[in-house]
Amino acid sequence: MKLNQRDKSHIWHPLTQHKLHPETIAITKAKGCILTDEDGNEYIDAIASWYTSMYGHCNNYITNRVATQMQQLDQIVFSGFTHEPAIKLSEELIKILPENQNKIFFSDNGSTAVEIGIKMALQYHFNQGEKRNTLIAFEDGFHGDTFGAMSVSSLSVYNGPFEDFFIDVKRIPVPNGKNHLDIINRLETIISKNKIAGFVYEPLVQGAAAMKMHNAQGLNQILQFCKTHHIITIADEVMTGFGKTGKHFASLHLDTKPDVMCLSKALTGGLMPMAITTCTQNIYNAFYSDNMGKGLFHAHTYSANPLACTAALASLELLQSTEIQNNIKRVIASHQKFGNHIKQHPKVKSIRQTGVIFALDLNIEMERYGNLRDKLLNFFMTSGIFLRPLGSTIYIQSAYVITDKQLEKIYKVIENALNII
Ligand SMILES: *Cc1c(COP(=O)(O)O)cnc(C)c1O
Repeated sequence: MKLNQRDKSHIWHPLTQHKLHPETIAITKAKGCILTDEDGNEYIDAIASWYTSMYGHCNNYITNRVATQMQQLDQIVFSGFTHEPAIKLSEELIKILPENQNKIFFSDNGSTAVEIGIKMALQYHFNQGEKRNTLIAFEDGFHGDTFGAMSVSSLSVYNGPFEDFFIDVKRIPVPNGKNHLDIINRLETIISKNKIAGFVYEPLVQGAAAMKMHNAQGLNQILQFCKTHHIITIADEVMTGFGKTGKHFASLHLDTKPDVMCLSKALTGGLMPMAITTCTQNIYNAFYSDNMGKGLFHAHTYSANPLACTAALASLELLQSTEIQNNIKRVIASHQKFGNHIKQHPKVKSIRQTGVIFALDLNIEMERYGNLRDKLLNFFMTSGIFLRPLGSTIYIQSAYVITDKQLEKIYKVIENALNII
């Protein structure tokens, strides 16, 4: 029996309504930007498998390093023990993070990186004898699927059944260049009625909201407001981190730096699951005490797994290489050219781009998981391109190492798709 049939017996897939979407595609191989399925069909991975494999799948530089590491030290409890891959990674990461970041806390996925950021903010105030129980977040944000992360997210298609159990969150719109006074007024009202612990935000690009992009200056003003009122700012850079916006982190485009940062996805180049929550010395100091109870009592069994740390270290080296930096510039320029061309198309409502993240909105209304979206997805797959439209948004976030020829094919298939819908 084929893999995609055997799958049906026991596997429950994420983000899947199995009654409506019973079929899966079994992938047997991934190299560079090419995915191969069990029938030998090839697909260009235009979203780098959810923005993780930014240096290409099965990148030899990363896999060789991990292969060596796995014969030396595979896994060790990270409370009471430490190891070189984690230490080296902390040193290398601190060099490229915004200058106010000084401590690294390990976990194993983006949602928990956010969860830890939220706990840091809540306990920061608690440890200082202040009970602040409310958070602020953007409308349309997405921060993950655990309870704290769901609370600050706002996509009800995922969150509906759990809403009664969420942390109290007040929402503000994203800055669009015109509404910053309204936002500040709204923030004033919010803080007059609530005790706010922190503000969780995706800087510059909101991934799951269909690559919605917002105004950096406006965000700066919000962050400045938060600093003035001792609201801990938590930048969720799970998607935007590691070069996506053209700089190593989206926060580097902003004058006001976050207190806490959440990282995952491209951290290990797609090889191993890992996440990191970073923070300033000031945050850390609020937990540093003779009192056990003031510590951050959060741990995951696989925290700072040495293999994942090694994959992250190799990925960081690649990110900073001239080759990858040149590739990032090349992809940015290529998308700009395509954007200028495709925005004239009658079926295109608008285009937008931040770094290597490119998105276009179609002129038609589409449900997030409706029939038209399925038609589009199928068209892309049968044309040999793995793209996942989000509602009426088609976006590209491919590996930095994607070739010009592969990019041309993605553009051509998108243009063809506009003609079948
Ligand atoms: C993907 C994502 C998350 C959740 O990460 P997981 O590893 O899927 O739990 C959180 N925040 C943002 C911005 C993301 O893109």
